[in-house]
Amino acid sequence: MQITVVGTGYVGLVTGVTFAEIGHEVICTDVDSAKIMKLSRGEVPFYEPGLQQLMVRNLQNGRLRFTTDTTDAYRFRDVICIAVGTPSRPDGAVDVSYIEQAVLEVAKAIEQYTVIVVKSTVPVGTNEQVRAMVQQHTNCPFDIVSNPEFLREGSAIHDIYHGDRIVIGADSDRAADIVTELHKPFGTPVFRTDPRSAELIKYASNAFLATKISYINEMANLCEKLGANVDAVAHGMGLDRRIGSPFLQAGLGYGGSCFPKDIRALLHMAESAQSELQLLRAVSIVNEQRPYVVLDKLKQRFSSLRNLRVAILGLSFKPNTDDIREAVSLVMMKELLKAGASLIVYDPIVNQAKGNPVLESARFAGSMKEALDWAEASIIVTEWDEIRSFPLLQYNQETLKETIIFDGRNCYALAEAERAGVEYYSVGRPAVN
Ligand code: NAD
Repeated sequence: MQITVVGTGYVGLVTGVTFAEIGHEVICTDVDSAKIMKLSRGEVPFYEPGLQQLMVRNLQNGRLRFTTDTTDAYRFRDVICIAVGTPSRPDGAVDVSYIEQAVLEVAKAIEQYTVIVVKSTVPVGTNEQVRAMVQQHTNCPFDIVSNPEFLREGSAIHDIYHGDRIVIGADSDRAADIVTELHKPFGTPVFRTDPRSAELIKYASNAFLATKISYINEMANLCEKLGANVDAVAHGMGLDRRIGSPFLQAGLGYGGSCFPKDIRALLHMAESAQSELQLLRAVSIVNEQRPYVVLDKLKQRFSSLRNLRVAILGLSFKPNTDDIREAVSLVMMKELLKAGASLIVYDPIVNQAKGNPVLESARFAGSMKEALDWAEASIIVTEWDEIRSFPLLQYNQETLKETIIFDGRNCYALAEAERAGVEYYSVGRPAVN
């Protein structure tokens, strides 16, 4: 099929590259011309394991190309997938202006029957609004399909090939058939429904996963009071197949470009519909408190944070991505700077401030060791493999001074901390000191 993907961010680029890989003719377009130039040269502008290689292969075999020319990108295509950003507005509502802008250009350019697929996460009713917009600007036949994306940054390619489901929300069987056919080589089960339900499936899924995270984090707080070990509790719970172990890892809470904004959006949607989501409100409150749970431990341990040298280990919102949108690290750094601490940061991939004012206030270390050598306290924020597998013994042996470890992701077993003789504070488990 002739496919165009609009927006070359984490979702759009992975979508375009993998569609090319399974044999479609793909054009990717973006309003950011510098990004398109970079992509045309075979450079991926962000970190996503395996993407670069797959992209270069498909550029070379001619099934994938990049352009900023929207006429070229939209004119004679079978399917146009919209994967532009849908950030939060200050009141929690979704800013759909990038969707509107993209759709307007698509509507003006199409010259044959086209299926317009909305992959971006959009509030319920948006697909209907998109239909009305397109209708105003074209006489061409078209259909709109809601096809929310479930990939995770850091394992996006794996997720596309091994997805649990493809959700297709369409009023037209013809369009739903085309989108089903488009995805066929992935072999993923397809669930067809109406557009409104499809739109809500995405939000409800993310909100449910966030609920699991906040639930185990509340249990972690309780474990600390009752002298239990949250890792054991989570493991024991997860053995029950009705519960399952994924997303039961106690820690610093969720961040990133999706969960926080999607939960705000769902709360806003519910409020506008005069429906109260009390549970989800609590999920969000619990999550906002998570960085402070660890910061409070630091405050209890040191009489003052003023001039305390602190290492932040891990900056990205989760391992295997360079995405720092709404990362917990930034919240913690802001608070520590406010309290007068001095910061050194280490992340295996995020090694520049890139204009972020919080990151600009910290010194970047070139290695874990450099950060530990300098710091009096270390906070493990993101559980990159390199960070979680760093030998605890080296926290002491390789550093001249002892650094006290605050592990926000429970990377080490308590027995290991005892053996290493480190002072170690984790989440929902007794301190080792
Ligand atoms: P992103 O910010 O990484 O990329 C969006 C891209 O769209 C940018 O490159 C931007 O320049 C481009 N763009 C904006 N307006 C445009 C226009 N009119 N025409 C062409 N390009 C335009 O965003 P993302 O993280 O890929 O997310 C995209 C959507 O997918 C969002 O709705 C998000 O909620 C959803 N989603 C994201 C993830 C994820 O893990 N990032 C997962 C599932 C769903």
